Amino acid sequence: MQLDGKTAIVTGGASGIGKAIATAYVKEGADVVIASRTESAGTEVADEIGCTYVQTDVREYDQVEELVETTVDEFGKLDVMVNNAGIASEAPVEEMELDEWRNVVQTDLDGVMHGTKAALPHLEETDGCIINTASIYGLVGGKGAAAYSAAKGGVVNFTQQVAVDYADEGVRVNSICPGFVETPMTEELLETERFYSYVRDNTPMNRPAQPEEIAPLAVFLASDGAGYMTGANIPIDGGWTAH
Ligand code: NAD
Repeated sequence: MQLDGKTAIVTGGASGIGKAIATAYVKEGADVVIASRTESAGTEVADEIGCTYVQTDVREYDQVEELVETTVDEFGKLDVMVNNAGIASEAPVEEMELDEWRNVVQTDLDGVMHGTKAALPHLEETDGCIINTASIYGLVGGKGAAAYSAAKGGVVNFTQQVAVDYADEGVRVNSICPGFVETPMTEELLETERFYSYVRDNTPMNRPAQPEEIAPLAVFLASDGAGYMTGANIPIDGGWTAH
């Protein structure tokens, strides 16, 4: 098993990509703590996959710090921090409500910074790693997704920046940049012909991904096999950013 003996936190681990990552980590032998906002869903998923749940709003630094401290109290250490929680937003900048902009940036960018800041002291002790879930929209502009692209672009550059600052401390920092994935986030949109054909026609592989197709990359990045990888923002997108 690739993650035997490791302790991992997965934010947004109760749903979609985060749930697939948490499930794969448990199967690979890790002790896993998932965090999300909605307690009922979090507890149910934790029971289903065999991990611990801590209710957390990643927009609030104090709550993220509490999540990390609870994990370290329970398992004695932290090896892997997956900053995955996020929300989507579909509006071009002229139509963007300021409250929506702020909420997306607070969740998708501040949330990653909060997880990084709270986890780093513990990751320095274990030569651990951080994995951020960015997006293809952090690498290229996303049509009609002003706040989301700005936040994910921030995550991409923040990943490189923290990787550079903490390489000497033995902490690796990488991001996963998925294309469209069928999750509760995209479910309703992908049910519309307009959006499904947009995704199909712009993806060389002509289909969205399943969350289980994203999780193996998160396993690899957390494993000793990725020991020389840091500062990488890796597309996993059926070819979206290749053209
Ligand atoms: P999802 O809606 O299925 O899961 C998102 C999770 O984040 C949920 O558990 C939700 O409770 C949690 N969350 C949201 N706001 C939170 C907050 N403030 N505090 C704590 N938890 C919070 O979506 P998903 O598709 O699995 O998305 C996971 C990540 O992948 C996100 O960062 C998303 O931007 C990114 N992503 C998704 C796609 C896609 O097509 N689905 C593509 C690229 C990147």
